[in-house]
Amino acid sequence: MAYWRRLVSIIGGRRIVGALGAFYVAFAVLRIFIGFNIGEPISSIFIIILLISVPGFFLLYGAYWLPQSDIDAEFYADIAGWALTGFGAVAGVLILYHLQPEGGISEPLAGIPILTALGSLGGLGVGVYDGRAKTRTRQLKRRANQQETVADLGQFALETEDLDSLMHEAARKVSDILDTDYCKVLDLDVENEELLLRQGVGWKDGIVGEATTSPVEADSQAAYTLANTHPIVVEDLETETRFSGPELLTNHDVRSGISTIIGPFDEPWGILGTHDTDRQEFTEEDANFVQSVANVLAEAIERTEKERQLRERKAQLDLATDAASIGTWTWDIQEDVVTADVYLTEMYEMEPADTAGGASMEVFYEPIHEDDTEQTWEALEQAVEETGRLNTEYRIRSTTGDIIWVEARGEVKYEGGEPVELYGTVADITERKAREERLEQLVAELEESNERLEQFAYAASHDLQEPLRMVSSYLQLIDSRYELDKEGEEFIEFAVDGAERMQSMINGLLQYSRVETQGDPAESIELEDILADTRENLQMTIEESDATIEAEPLPCIQGDPDQLRQVFQNLLANAIEYSDDQPMVHITAERNGTDWVISIEDEGIGIGSEEQEQIFEVFQRGHSHSDGNGTGIGLAICERIIERHGGEIWVESELDEGSTFSFTLPAE
Ligand code: ADP
Repeated sequence: MAYWRRLVSIIGGRRIVGALGAFYVAFAVLRIFIGFNIGEPISSIFIIILLISVPGFFLLYGAYWLPQSDIDAEFYADIAGWALTGFGAVAGVLILYHLQPEGGISEPLAGIPILTALGSLGGLGVGVYDGRAKTRTRQLKRRANQQETVADLGQFALETEDLDSLMHEAARKVSDILDTDYCKVLDLDVENEELLLRQGVGWKDGIVGEATTSPVEADSQAAYTLANTHPIVVEDLETETRFSGPELLTNHDVRSGISTIIGPFDEPWGILGTHDTDRQEFTEEDANFVQSVANVLAEAIERTEKERQLRERKAQLDLATDAASIGTWTWDIQEDVVTADVYLTEMYEMEPADTAGGASMEVFYEPIHEDDTEQTWEALEQAVEETGRLNTEYRIRSTTGDIIWVEARGEVKYEGGEPVELYGTVADITERKAREERLEQLVAELEESNERLEQFAYAASHDLQEPLRMVSSYLQLIDSRYELDKEGEEFIEFAVDGAERMQSMINGLLQYSRVETQGDPAESIELEDILADTRENLQMTIEESDATIEAEPLPCIQGDPDQLRQVFQNLLANAIEYSDDQPMVHITAERNGTDWVISIEDEGIGIGSEEQEQIFEVFQRGHSHSDGNGTGIGLAICERIIERHGGEIWVESELDEGSTFSFTLPAE
């Protein structure tokens, strides 16, 4: 049987069926002549040739129709075998019938061809049925095989970390199942516009890992594949019109194949393609199979990439936690199991064996300083029961007796309203604590020294007043009682002047030293009222100099009224004093975030940029007025008052262009 089958397939199943058909048609034509020769009636000639030629035509049509049927070409030989068997079976019966003693076919030229033709046709029918069944079984098997392969590859993908071996295995299986010569996995390098043949089967040595093709050339199969969301099936590259075969394929005489994207369409990882040197028809299932394998690869690639990123991030985190002396921990609240990382156990000087696999919270409380245990438990309870957040600092007693300050932070995880987990970090803050303590100490020292200095300035200026008053009064006594010449009187005048100046300087110093200590508590005040008081106080000066003071509406703020009156008075008096005839002063208030900015602008003589900083210092006066009336302490007092109110003061000015003194006060 196998021998027969081989012979039939060498000749070709379709050819045999066709030849059989052609034989009967030809015989039918011949039979017309024979019929006429032996004088058969036309009607019987007609019926006989009809009975011979119809099966003949059917056989011929069958040979023509087979490629269009859904029967696999592989089974054509079997079909031809069945047709021949039909022929042979009828022929055998006829021979047996002929050989029986009383037998003999009465009309062999009609009976034999009619019956064998019908036998062959019957055989063809059985063959077609059988071929269909076999084709279907084969397809089912192939589909089952494909599904199994996808499942196997999925399993393999889960088990392996080696992407290349997975790709190779995928390529091998695809080419096995689809019976193709080549299969390839192309890795897309977007930056370099290149597709690398990363893995594959069927290729000559040195091609895998080396050969590249372009993903962008308009007419390449790769570019076409990347531009489509579904697999691309090529039946014959020679007649293909959508693209031209890339060199990699044409060089290998590839004719047919399937290719598809690996990964998401908008961010593809590459292409999976399989090719054959024969013209092959691929079914939709085949294309789906290739797509499923590509999906397995895509998932594995994505997972591997995520795992790589995770490993990298963990390494970075490890580095960071190590560098920052941070330990991490998780507390399973329901089970009371704490798991901590090595940094934490090192910080707590615990034996890794004691905490491996987790330990109860009690165990982690042992190294905590006994003075801090209670408040730490409370913080923990509060986090779990109320706030959901932990943030506490405590001490740990090291075995060497050193104290380590740590800060624990954490967050509670709830499930169905129940606290199930508290996780967080513990950071070594010993150095920070030491710095903070040192800073607190320094601040305290500074405050103390400041206070002493203020007391000293106050006492000094207070005590200086008395002898100064004595100097003044005795000078006045000399002036009134003794007859002095002109020069003597002039000297006494200078001395009295000097004593008076000294008096105002001492008063200024006294005021300056009292800004912090003798100020009133802040209250709500209308700056409009303060300005009105100031105008009243300066009424004489304003009238004498014929000054104009314009003010925009001023806000209400919190402050010490006396001190702010002083600030307005000093600044307004300066604005008038340091202006020429008919001074013009303009006062504005502007909101800036949480502050008010009050500005006092004049059109006076201005201040050179080099003096603008130093005029706020005690006894510092502008060069041009160092011999005038002022003492040079007014702006220093203003600065101190404004600073006490949480604001700042500055000047913007240009010589001969006027000055603008501005200060900020926090809005109410
Ligand atoms: P005093 O006015 O008593 O000299 P201040 O501390 O009030 O002391 O001012 C310091 C210096 O700042 C003044 O000597 C003067 O040179 C300069 N100054 C202050 N206000 C103005 C102003 N509005 N225009 C120009 N110069 C000013």
